[in-house]
Amino acid sequence: MRATENTAEARRTIEICNACRYCETYCAVFPAMTLQRAFTDEDLGYFANLCHNCKGCYQACQYAPPHEFGVNLPQTFAELRNETYEEYAWPNGSGRLFERNGTIVSLAAAAAIAFVLIAIMALRSPGILYAPQTGPGAFYRIVPWGVMTAFAGAAFIYAIVAMAIGAMRFWKDTQSDLSGPITLKALARALHDAATLRYLGNDGKGCNDLDDQYSQTRRRLHHLMAYGFLLCFAATSVATVYDHFLNWPAPYPVLSWPVMLGTFGGVGLTVGTIGLIWVKIVTDPAPVSRKVAGGEYALLTLLLLAAVTGLVLLAARETAAMGILLAVHLGIILALFLALPYSKFVHSVYRSAALLKAAIERERNKPLGE
Ligand code: SF4
Ligand code: SF4
Repeated sequence: MRATENTAEARRTIEICNACRYCETYCAVFPAMTLQRAFTDEDLGYFANLCHNCKGCYQACQYAPPHEFGVNLPQTFAELRNETYEEYAWPNGSGRLFERNGTIVSLAAAAAIAFVLIAIMALRSPGILYAPQTGPGAFYRIVPWGVMTAFAGAAFIYAIVAMAIGAMRFWKDTQSDLSGPITLKALARALHDAATLRYLGNDGKGCNDLDDQYSQTRRRLHHLMAYGFLLCFAATSVATVYDHFLNWPAPYPVLSWPVMLGTFGGVGLTVGTIGLIWVKIVTDPAPVSRKVAGGEYALLTLLLLAAVTGLVLLAARETAAMGILLAVHLGIILALFLALPYSKFVHSVYRSAALLKAAIERERNKPLGE
């Protein structure tokens, strides 16, 4: 991990916190910090990814601005986290593109892919774009099965490979001081902590988005978004099995697994992303980093567009608008896949890895200063 202005600021802040320790019970960052006396850049990257950005420590801090110490952990960690996303992204240097121009890059990619799909349809048979299609295989009469599978499969595999390489780089760099096997108990604990957002604010009390009052709003909205995304992914996976292994091509009836999972997931994703955008707009700006806001809005916008276009496509799938809607939805989904490894989405990967390290350390009860 590179030494930067943010690693220097994080080190200065964390050394103050390690002397103060008032926030010891707030989240996993503080118990992890107290296990050490000196902090490498890699330790700081690990702490930054353990932080859930609840802002509780900022509200509680007697050394927060305007105090001369200027302790602002949520802001410092948000900027350092972004540097870790850039640092470990594969191919090297690609993380910067999304961070600086995330919204424009994603929307341009979605528009370009949708345009290519519409051009393919128009070249094959212009009339097919505006003719209602119904019955088994309706989608493939618009976008051929081979084209859809090749585009979606390539984008999905690329996203998985890029995120896996990023995760391995992060793990190798930040967990180099761990030795011995990873136990099932530590794995289960890390999974539980990640799935429940256990450390979202003062040992689970919630976030301090507006002021010093705890609120569970952000946790609930994040759950709606994250589990909505997983339900949509489950819907696509079930549809793939139906199509490729059971020879039952889409579209499926309303009371089928793909449609029900996709509908519940799409609604959760829509409500969760709109709510999280709203929280970002109304939140207290003092502990927020403006530098990382663009990339965060870009991911939320892409997820929202994916959910809304999916629901609209479902509602209008038997109308003449289906062709254009399908191209637009596929364009957004493919752009989303391509953007995932360089967007804030990777926080789910790095935070899970950081939570696993925290669980291992807790299990081994590493002595102070070791
Ligand atoms: S955030 Fe402030 S109050 Fe909390 S441990 Fe650090 S210095 Fe102390
Ligand atoms: S999770 Fe919350 S309490 Fe912990 S460091 Fe981050 S902002 Fe502070």
